[in-house]
Amino acid sequence: MIIMKAEATEKEIANVVKEIKKYGLKADVSRGEFRTVIGLVGDERKIPFSHFAVLPGVKEAMMVETPYKLISKEYSKLFPEESEYRIIQVGNISIGGDEPVFIAGPCAVENRQQLFKIAEGIKKAGAHILRGGIFKPRSSVHSFQGLGANGREGAEEALSWLHEAGKRFEMPVITEVRGEMQVDLIAEYVDILQIGARNMYDQDLLGSVARKNKPVLLKRHFGAGIEEFLSFAEYIAAEGNKDIILCERGIIPVGKGRSYTRYTFDLAAIPAIQKETYLPILADPSHATGRRDLIFNTSCAAIAAGARGLMIETHYKPAEALVDGQQMITPDELKDVIEACQRIHRMIVSTNNKHESA
Ligand code: PEP
Ligand code: MN
Repeated sequence: MIIMKAEATEKEIANVVKEIKKYGLKADVSRGEFRTVIGLVGDERKIPFSHFAVLPGVKEAMMVETPYKLISKEYSKLFPEESEYRIIQVGNISIGGDEPVFIAGPCAVENRQQLFKIAEGIKKAGAHILRGGIFKPRSSVHSFQGLGANGREGAEEALSWLHEAGKRFEMPVITEVRGEMQVDLIAEYVDILQIGARNMYDQDLLGSVARKNKPVLLKRHFGAGIEEFLSFAEYIAAEGNKDIILCERGIIPVGKGRSYTRYTFDLAAIPAIQKETYLPILADPSHATGRRDLIFNTSCAAIAAGARGLMIETHYKPAEALVDGQQMITPDELKDVIEACQRIHRMIVSTNNKHESA
């Protein structure tokens, strides 16, 4: 990491970037109000820090060991005049700001009427962002694969419904990108690109999604440790895109016997991750539990744990859904979840403030 002097000129910054490239690394230039910090992307052991420390305009040159330095709290602390947390603006919704954000909608987009009816319901319930899977990751080739599987025309039609529903009900929209081939097409229609748990490790996909310069929601793989999860988020940041929304969605336990939930909701990961990074962390109680009867309690728990928002699968008739009906709640139930979560959030924030000012 290279910290520039407050009075460093553009020419001096450019010179440092040029020097970094000479050693085969990339430079991540962050400009704050009072100083510029240049993060090094690549193997820092190749860098002669003593040489960089004496370049014109350089205040300090040092090695940073963590595998997720560009998204770390360490990095944001170098800009004390700015917020400690990143606020990601999508339309008029702020993710990571003062209020929790609720993403809701069907697991899969099935047809236009289903999507519009759900969109209307979740908007009335107080949701902020509309989700809907079009390219679905499925465990069996015999299950409904999402409308994205119906060739380019089918995919474009479903994407256009999602876009239209977002406009009609004034909500940004999000859908999952499952492969590199889908990136360009999906980016034309949605506001946030989602990387599913199964693809968290696909660094090529992370790179191509990042380069669209749209916010990316990255879900934690069910086998990934926290450090690993953050290390893969770093692949997005390394492309110069720091509009990354993290999402905890459950991990797999190692013991034998029934777990009674689809995955194990790692609630402690939420505040633990928030201590490590300035990026907002959301939670998905739907996929984490797989049970509609557990959504209310686990949503409240996730917000109490400090989640900046939730992603909840919603359907007006869960039993009719082609995918994940067992874990969907209705818009009426969503309204109760949102109201309870907002109350819990206010309580948590006021107690945190009390401790901070003490
Ligand atoms: C989803 O959100 O549609 C989904 C498939 O979730 P996950 O990637 O967490 O399994
Ligand atoms: Mn689902």
